[in-house]
Amino acid sequence: MIRTLHQKLLNQEMTSVQLTEEHFDAIEKRDGDIGAYLTLTKESALQAAHEIDERIRRGEPLDLLAGIPCAIKDNMCMTGVRTTAASKILDNYIAPYDATVVKELRDVGSIILGKTNMDEFAMGSSTESSAYQKTKNPRDTDRVPGGSSGGSAAAVAGEFAVFALGSDTGGSIRQPASLCGIVGLKPTYGRVSRHGLIAMASSLDQIGPLTQSVEDAAIVLSRIAGEDALDATSAESGGKSYEHFLSGDISGKRIGIPKEYFSEALDVSVRAVAERAIEQFRSLGAEIVPMSLPSSHLALPAYYIIMPAEVSSNLARLDGIRYGLSIDNEQTSILEKSGLFETYLDTRQYGFGAEVKRRIMLGTYALSAGYYDAYYSKAQKVRTLLRREFEQAFLNVDLIFSPTAPEAAFRFGAKVENPLSMYLSDVYTVTANLVGVPAISFPIGFIEESDKKLPLGGQLMGKWFDEEGILNAAHAFEQSIR
Ligand code: GLN
Repeated sequence: MIRTLHQKLLNQEMTSVQLTEEHFDAIEKRDGDIGAYLTLTKESALQAAHEIDERIRRGEPLDLLAGIPCAIKDNMCMTGVRTTAASKILDNYIAPYDATVVKELRDVGSIILGKTNMDEFAMGSSTESSAYQKTKNPRDTDRVPGGSSGGSAAAVAGEFAVFALGSDTGGSIRQPASLCGIVGLKPTYGRVSRHGLIAMASSLDQIGPLTQSVEDAAIVLSRIAGEDALDATSAESGGKSYEHFLSGDISGKRIGIPKEYFSEALDVSVRAVAERAIEQFRSLGAEIVPMSLPSSHLALPAYYIIMPAEVSSNLARLDGIRYGLSIDNEQTSILEKSGLFETYLDTRQYGFGAEVKRRIMLGTYALSAGYYDAYYSKAQKVRTLLRREFEQAFLNVDLIFSPTAPEAAFRFGAKVENPLSMYLSDVYTVTANLVGVPAISFPIGFIEESDKKLPLGGQLMGKWFDEEGILNAAHAFEQSIR
């Protein structure tokens, strides 16, 4: 997709301004219904596109992403642009600087069309916890696009952007990619700088691409990966030009199938699609290796301790004093109090939605003196255990395959009343965040529900910093089913 558009721009079959305008036309016509974007940056986008067209006319060498329109999840800062993380508490927050990933995309000439909807502070699996709007799944508008990067996934699936950036703390790039029938990549922890990403859970967060093809994911990753002096957790080993490693040859690669991911609890139709994908990998020459990750059942509980603990700490800065919304006493008729403490309380009470409050409370509880050992320390031990199991597993296999999510896109409201059922959406994805390995979701088939074909993604996890390996295997699969 990106390569074809790049060629068209170079051949002057179309201009970047035309391509950008086409996208804004599509957004104007159809995004009113889908709701992928929260903010559009039309003026700066057209200006940037115009500059790329000038450079093409002058025959300057251009990057593959130059002139290519993209969308950014609304938890990444962009200078002068409203950045809300889909929360009322940041309703009027204008970012004073660019996130490193945004800067990197601008530097190579990519055209940023706007900021996309998401679950509030990236907490959720359906984008329904956004304080602003619903986002519909372009494949079936009665259903959610997944979350929390639901706006980014819908923008790509609905063709309102060629690619988008999302963030993934427990599955928020991969699960919406699965539900919308596109590709989503969570890189290795440390591969991509998070400077300028509004932190959710800092030991788990990663930024990555949502794209229409695996090659596109490789192209985008190459541009955003690498060490950043502004993010101390970014890894020294720089990124690569991943698109050059897509040989499509996976013969002899050992793909592990963990029995815990294919238990009795797995939905029969999801299992059938996943098993067909496994056969496809076998026919491509991969060796299928049955394996076990015995502590898998502990991953989701550990995630739902560690993540809220970090959330409660990260979100403490949103106090009505430093960023965004501030409710002072004159504005509050309900609580006629005065003083700083009341400002904190009122701002947070009004500014945060229910899911965010739930997690702040759970996290504060898990970190409190009396319960720290029982919950937080124990969850950290589980995390170490999981990491060791992965280290062991990767001595014997190159890749680990599973479904991305336990089900296809669900209907609006289906899980809102029961947070636990929403949390179960993350059962296959959180482990990659807890242990830090890279993981990709790519379309592997469809399931039929009420006469509709709903897309389903498969997940490949790879060794630490082996984005190449998962991209190449997913690419081989994608090419073979064309
Ligand atoms: N659905 C998960 C959660 O609600 C993942 C969120 C994410 O990756 N940002 O925590």
